[in-house]
Amino acid sequence: MVIHPMTMQTDIAPILQHATNGHRLSPDQLRTLLSSDDWTSIAAAGHTERQRRHGSHVATWTAFRVINYTNFCNIDCSFCSFKDEIESDRGYTLSLEQIEAKTLEAKELGCDAIFFQGGVNPHLALSYYTDAFRMISAHGMHVRALSPVEVFRLAQKEGLEVPALLEILKAAGLGSVPGAGAEILTDRMRQVLSPKKLSWQEWCETMGHCHRAGLPGSCNIVFGSSETVDDLVEHLTYLRDQQDLSGGFLSFVPWVFQAQTKNFPIRHVKSWEYLRMVGAARLFLDNIPHIEVSIMVLGRELAELGLYAGADDISSIVIEENVLASRGLKTIRAAEKFLTEAGFTPRRRTLGYELVP
Ligand code: SF4
Repeated sequence: MVIHPMTMQTDIAPILQHATNGHRLSPDQLRTLLSSDDWTSIAAAGHTERQRRHGSHVATWTAFRVINYTNFCNIDCSFCSFKDEIESDRGYTLSLEQIEAKTLEAKELGCDAIFFQGGVNPHLALSYYTDAFRMISAHGMHVRALSPVEVFRLAQKEGLEVPALLEILKAAGLGSVPGAGAEILTDRMRQVLSPKKLSWQEWCETMGHCHRAGLPGSCNIVFGSSETVDDLVEHLTYLRDQQDLSGGFLSFVPWVFQAQTKNFPIRHVKSWEYLRMVGAARLFLDNIPHIEVSIMVLGRELAELGLYAGADDISSIVIEENVLASRGLKTIRAAEKFLTEAGFTPRRRTLGYELVP
């Protein structure tokens, strides 16, 4: 364990003041915040900034279904259990009919979007994706699909440049892209987490292509393994730099690793440490409009506190999620009740962050 939370006693008040006065924080200032034990001040400043941007009373939610279309994957991330050897009889790839059945079920339950994500399966043709996207959008559902590594590998397999692939996918109905697969974007942590995945430069470049193609989305961080404070700072700085260049990140979502495999060491991220991340991210990521907390991973109590530390959105309802054990809200009523009880006026949004009347 590398993060030593109770060690630095630097007075952070001038940094918090600087940020809440509308000035950009430097990476060094972020490092100071993420090394400080004064997490309540950071969370309070994050909440002040969230109020300045979005008002005090409203918090948003959205309703989508995750469809994990295949669990075949040749990337082999050290933390992931959602993968299967290509020859294994435990592997699956959903047929178009199965995808359509799940789409219609989601629509019936009140979802307006499908989150289409899977392993990196080298045996799937481009037509598998275009047929699925056309079908999903024909049912009036927004298609959010394909993390940067899926986009990158599919382009390689098809012999296409990424922008050319994105035009084809967009014409078929792709509407936005998830921020998945970033975990921690530093050279050192890429080696620990997933040496065969994209480098941080490739991840950012692929996101830049998506944004320029008119495909916005989210970005995230997944922490709670062997990362250092420097890794966290570097990661958030790359995201902010990329946003300056391409501007398509609608939201930032801080996640923590969940235990999936026996071989990957994770640590318990303390609640206050998570809230410090939410607040610091709200202050540092001045060019990303929204901060989401994930009930699915964090549970309700911590997600509720996150809404008072800088976050303005709870993301879910998630109807299905095979990759991680879900603690998420399962119904529209549950989402509205959760936000109301937390002290907010719930507003439904689309995946593009437009408020639903
Ligand atoms: S995290 Fe994604 S890319 Fe990595 S092994 Fe799992 S499914 Fe494959």
